[in-house]
Amino acid sequence: MQLQHLPYTPLRITSGFGPRKTNIAGASTDHMGVDIGTDKSKPYTATDGGPVTAALPGTVVSSYYNNLRGWVVLLDHGTIEGQNIKTLYQHLKQAGSAVGTKVKAGDRIGTMGNTGVGAQLHLHFELRVNNTCVDPEPYLKNIKEVKTMENITLDEAKRIVKEKAGLDDNTIQYLLFYKYGETLVKKIAVAVQ
Ligand SMILES: [Zn+2]
Repeated sequence: MQLQHLPYTPLRITSGFGPRKTNIAGASTDHMGVDIGTDKSKPYTATDGGPVTAALPGTVVSSYYNNLRGWVVLLDHGTIEGQNIKTLYQHLKQAGSAVGTKVKAGDRIGTMGNTGVGAQLHLHFELRVNNTCVDPEPYLKNIKEVKTMENITLDEAKRIVKEKAGLDDNTIQYLLFYKYGETLVKKIAVAVQ
């Protein structure tokens, strides 16, 4: 199983998965996801951290507010490699995408905020496999590696086009177009047909 898109860019994990100590009343001591901090290169405000995006294609199955989680969006990605995969995005600035909305990987489903229990602006992200939370960090880091590939070879480019390698269309287009130019992209497209 591979996530296709970071829920927030850049990936800066401020609190990992699992048991933790916290001074914040109401915050969980057994952390069911990871916290991702805001993009420091942008002049975001204390309540608005910019786009939160879908990690995989799927459907919004919950979109709600509660005092603990704040604004939440839960996506169901269906069955991948025999297991049900869901991702959850919490502490959004305001109501995210509505229940029933179909999304592609990378589609914006909300805005990073600080609603619910939390010290500061961040995204709490959960990965649920058969409705059990697992550590999303290795999956998130795997995406990052693929996306920052600097010295892609022609063979790798062909493979990516062929298998899509868990990348979204924009990323493929970026890698191929900007690395090799349009002519070569057309050649590759013919070669992999
Ligand atoms: Zn958290």
